[in-house]
Amino acid sequence: MTIKRLFFVVFAGLLALAPCFARNYDADIIVVGSGLGGHAATYSALENGATVIWVEKNPVLGGSTAIATGTFPAAGTTMQKERGIEDSNELFIQDLNRIGHNKADQNILRAFVEKATSVWEWFVKGGFQVDTKRGPFIDPVHSAYSVPRTYVPSPNKSSMYTDFLYAKMEPFKSKLTIRLNTKAESLVVEKGRVSGVLVVSDQGTEVLRAKAVILATGGYGSNRDMIKRYSPKYSEVMTVTLPFATGDGHRMAAAVGADLVNMDYICAYFGGMPKAPGQYAIGFGDLSSGAADGWKGEIWVNQRGERFINEDDGDEDPREMALNEQPDLENFIIFDQGMVDFNKRFPIGGFEKRLEENGYAVKKADTIEELCKAFGLPVAQVKREIAAVNGDHSAGKTDRFGKKPAIGFTKGPYYGILNRGTIFMTQGGIRTDIGMRVLDKNGRWIPGLYAAGEAQGTSQWGGLGMAGGTGNAPPLVFGMEAGKNAVNEAKLIK
Ligand SMILES: Cc1cc2nc3c(=O)[nH]c(=O)nc-3n(C[C@H](O)[C@H](O)[C@H](O)COP(=O)(O)OP(=O)(O)OC[C@H]3O[C@@H](n4cnc5c(N)ncnc54)[C@H](O)[C@@H]3O)c2cc1C
Repeated sequence: MTIKRLFFVVFAGLLALAPCFARNYDADIIVVGSGLGGHAATYSALENGATVIWVEKNPVLGGSTAIATGTFPAAGTTMQKERGIEDSNELFIQDLNRIGHNKADQNILRAFVEKATSVWEWFVKGGFQVDTKRGPFIDPVHSAYSVPRTYVPSPNKSSMYTDFLYAKMEPFKSKLTIRLNTKAESLVVEKGRVSGVLVVSDQGTEVLRAKAVILATGGYGSNRDMIKRYSPKYSEVMTVTLPFATGDGHRMAAAVGADLVNMDYICAYFGGMPKAPGQYAIGFGDLSSGAADGWKGEIWVNQRGERFINEDDGDEDPREMALNEQPDLENFIIFDQGMVDFNKRFPIGGFEKRLEENGYAVKKADTIEELCKAFGLPVAQVKREIAAVNGDHSAGKTDRFGKKPAIGFTKGPYYGILNRGTIFMTQGGIRTDIGMRVLDKNGRWIPGLYAAGEAQGTSQWGGLGMAGGTGNAPPLVFGMEAGKNAVNEAKLIK
């Protein structure tokens, strides 16, 4: 241990003991993190009369809203009724269980569904800019809901929610202290209660004290060590999450005895195109989202050159789930010029440009042998798959995956796209009850501690799957809930 580190540890230890001697609080509530969950929690705590210190390690507020789009699902809304769309909480729950493979915490899932409608209506009534032309619609991404119940803001950016909430905080600004560039390192526990946060900023290391703390610290998609430790099977998964998604809240909560749930769950979406071996972090532009959706003819093979799914399945979920079982989560989309002519386009947007710019993942060759060699795929196996597809197409037969090929391989050149499973959010998280109170391994509440948003792990409401809008809506819904409940608890503390 270096002298500097030793000094930090001793100093931090002394600071953590400070509350034992001084019980005055710096605020009623501390909210850590400023994405959707942090904005909702901060607004809700302020609106319920509390003073709040809002801690964010980045230089700006917003978290993942810097890149995410804004889908929000809710059942039984005014917009649905106006359009004659029949929907109910029970149908929404049924859909979420289908998409999440029945692995959600049923209490949390129900709490989300039951509160989502009123939160959505609150936004709309407050003047939130909704894309009324689009919503409510059936979101085709991942696995579709059975009725149109997805809405998006106009423009379709999730920062629309945070901007809206931030503006709503205006009347309460005298009760709010925002600490940017301030990283929460650990939680302070006093007599069995969480009563503060040890933070580090350019002002040094300090303890901020509050009657309750809300962790809205997001996921851990950018923490490779955590992914490897908890989900070794997915150690090659790529990510579009931002660098701050390092699971700090998970670590801090676990250190005070919180239960972390479903940390072995990972749901990778197809579409990530690496530019080099070992590249994990990619941007939106490196995604071939909806790769080959609605496109006919291509085959998807794994590293062994074997097909593993009906490529034409309109439901993305079976393809996502199958990809999650392939070595290194990799699949290779193989097609030929005959298919490009047949479909009158390439299977992903900007294919020719990507061919020029990303020769590692996007390839073209005169022969199938050359294409396989370029990707390191076993030629004989790929040729067997192609022969089988051609045979099934000629005979009009349905193959072993339930696909009736619309076209076979007819002429070169041959093309290939390497796709690797990519995460947008993480499924494992801090276990809570329906009031967002953090629970320990025995299911007991840790007084003074709340969690909201991706820090809870999307599996708590979404199981092992990704239903449209369930990255955005639960942080908003549960952030509101955490803020309100933390204030109610704070009112009981002297
Ligand atoms: C590219 C992309 C597209 C997406 N598109 C959609 C979509 O269309 N629909 C959908 O439903 N979901 C989508 N998602 C998922 C959705 O964006 C997230 O689930 C959601 O934003 C999570 O919100 P959050 O508030 O829980 O966490 P975040 O927004 O990640 O916020 C966490 C915040 O906590 C801060 N923080 C972390 N640790 C500390 C610490 N120690 N101290 C202080 N601050 C800390 C971080 O800096 C960050 O600001 C997308 C995600 C990505 C990456």
